[in-house]
This record gives sequence, structure tokens and C-alpha cells, in this order.
Amino acid sequence: MIPYSCQSINNSDIDAVIKVLQSSHLTQGKMVEQFENAICQYIGCKYAITFNSATSALLAAYKVAGLKEGDEVITSPLSFVATSNMLLECNATPVWCDIKLDGNIDERFVTRAITEKTKAIVAIDFAGKPVAIKSLQAIAKEHNLLLIEDASHAFGSMLEDKKIGTFSDMSIFSFHAIKPLTTGEGGCVVTNDENFAKALQLFRSHGIVKKELWNSDMVSMGHNYRLTEFAAALGNSQLQRIDAFIAQREKIARYYDKKFANHKLFTTLKIDKNTRSSRHLYVILLSPNMQCVKEEIFQALHERGIGVQVHYKPIYKNSYYIERFGELRLDVCEDFYRSELSIPCHQKMSMDNAEFIATTLLEIFEKYAHRGCSF
Ligand SMILES: *Cc1c(COP(=O)(O)O)cnc(C)c1O
Repeated sequence: MIPYSCQSINNSDIDAVIKVLQSSHLTQGKMVEQFENAICQYIGCKYAITFNSATSALLAAYKVAGLKEGDEVITSPLSFVATSNMLLECNATPVWCDIKLDGNIDERFVTRAITEKTKAIVAIDFAGKPVAIKSLQAIAKEHNLLLIEDASHAFGSMLEDKKIGTFSDMSIFSFHAIKPLTTGEGGCVVTNDENFAKALQLFRSHGIVKKELWNSDMVSMGHNYRLTEFAAALGNSQLQRIDAFIAQREKIARYYDKKFANHKLFTTLKIDKNTRSSRHLYVILLSPNMQCVKEEIFQALHERGIGVQVHYKPIYKNSYYIERFGELRLDVCEDFYRSELSIPCHQKMSMDNAEFIATTLLEIFEKYAHRGCSF
């Protein structure tokens, strides 16, 4: 089975991890700091604070932003549940806005959702395509809101000549195994704000500061959300190849774009000229008359060894959320969910793999075309 996304580990990665395993420090040594410095250099930001997952990084960012009960946070329903889950963990209220046809939050709805209780906007860069971050920056500035970006898909994505991670007050990356860069499990928050950076470091490690000799002091609430030294070593080694990873995904994505151009049964997402996508996901959207055979297409692809997946069930449609917030529906998001399929596109794939996937996909669509739904 060719998965929709996959890690790529080479001998340098393995050597880097082994070296740490044979050293004195498995945690709280120098490797985490080295990795964080390398992230800052790559992204072009002042501070990077690593965590043991993007989920704990999200919680940390929300907490140091001061989100609490009674606060409303405008966010996208088309994300992994953690983006909203951690808002609930702060007792803040997620306010979901509908999305655009590219899967990113629709800034026109963001403005309309602002109330006196709104404290922050949490955007995501769906599939790695940069969200309309400049519009969101302007909205946040005008209404005095914090802008937080769940950039879990977007390590290495760019808008003009700047990396994603340099636009928001805080941006979160995931280093989960199938994300653009991996430490197995892991994540980080990047920011240019010194106060946020200090608070994030405290939150990550029990809220404890070292004073002198044996005297340490716990000054604020904290957890143990630290990354291990060997995970940091893996991340650091992976970071040397991130641009090569993205280049390979870009090559596959462009090949797909060409093969699928003007197809009558599905469309693909377009990446704007002045941007770079990490190409974390390659998304196709079934035309309305094919949505009723999506399950069959999904299954037929899996039977041929093509590990497609669907991103995402709108967060508010999960039973926990229905119980808390009742039934909601946002039209574009619902339609996106009905039509979306992510097909394999990652750095371990060869162009032969890509050709096999494109040919098989086109074949299967032809086969189901006559079964299309009628209205
Ligand atoms: C993967 C992902 C997360 C969670 O990341 P973990 O590192 O697995 O905790 C959060 N948000 C989005 C958008 C993701 O894709």
C-alpha cells in the first residue's frame, strides 16, 4: 500500500539518533536547543520552542495567549480535531467559520463572526497551502485580536519570500511521523515575541526556573511536554533535507496537475504563483455527480494499493462536539468533506509510483462515471 503521506528516514537520520542514544543525555541536553536554533534559522523567526507533539504545542500557545472561559476564538472546522480540542481544554469557545474552496478559512466570514468576546483567530494552512494570512493579519490588527496559526501542514511553505511561521503571533508545527518533517512525535511553536517564548518554555517544563544551587522555583503552571534529545536529533537531521522533500512532493504534484487538468469528474487545488506549498496533502475534489460513489472509489483505490484518505470530517460533526454544541452545518465545509480525497504524494514516492497512481485513478473514475448520481 502506498500511503497518502509517509516519513523518509536515511542513514544520517539513524546515525544522528544512535549518537544521542550513546551519549550521556537522552533528555534536557544540547540537542533540543540545536534543533530549535536550526528551526529559527530555517523559518526566519526569533524563537522556536519544541514540544512532544503539536497538540501540546497548541495547548501551550493557547494558554500563554491567555485564552480562558468566556473567550471566543474564531477558527476553521476543516482541521484535525486537536486545533479545537485544545481550545476546549482552555475552556474557550471555538467559533467555526466556513471555508473557501481551497480548504482554508474564508476571511469574509471571520470578520462577521467577531463579537466583543472574540480574543483570537486560529487559522490553519490546509494541505500546506498558505492561508490568506495578510487579510487575517489586517483583521486581527483592526480588532485587536491575537493571530495564531496551526501550521501543522505547512513546515517549509512560503508566502512571497517569507516562510509560514513568520506572519502570526504564534505558529504551531507538527513533527508527527507523516508530517512534512518528523521527530516521530513532536511539534513546536515559533514566535518573535520574547514574552510568549519565555512563557512557552515554562509551560513546557513544570513552570520551574532554576535559581542557584539546589534552589529552583515553580513560578507558573506547567507540564512535562518536552521533546527527547534523540527526537531532536532526528528532527535536526531531517531539517537538512526538508527542501529536497518538498521539491520531490512538488514534482509529483505538478505531474498530477498535468495528468488531471480539466478533468470532468474532479478538480485539484491550485497553488498561487507567489506562494510555495509544502504539498503535505495532494487533494482532489469530486464533482457533485461523483460524490455518491466516493465510498466505492475510495475502496477501489485501496484494493489497488493506493492509500487515499479523507481530510477532514468537519470538527463540529464529531459526536463530542455535537453533544456540547448541537448540530451545526457550514455549507462549503460540508461540501468539501463530501468531495475531498487526499491521494499519495510524498518524498518516498518515485515518479513511477506517481504514474501508476494517476493512471489507476483515472481508470477507476472512468469505471464509476456512468454510476454517477443524478439530481
Ligand atoms: C497533525 C495535526 C495536529 C496534531 O499534531 P500532533 O503532532 O499529532 O499532535 C494538529 N493540527 C493539525 C492541522 C494537524 O494536521
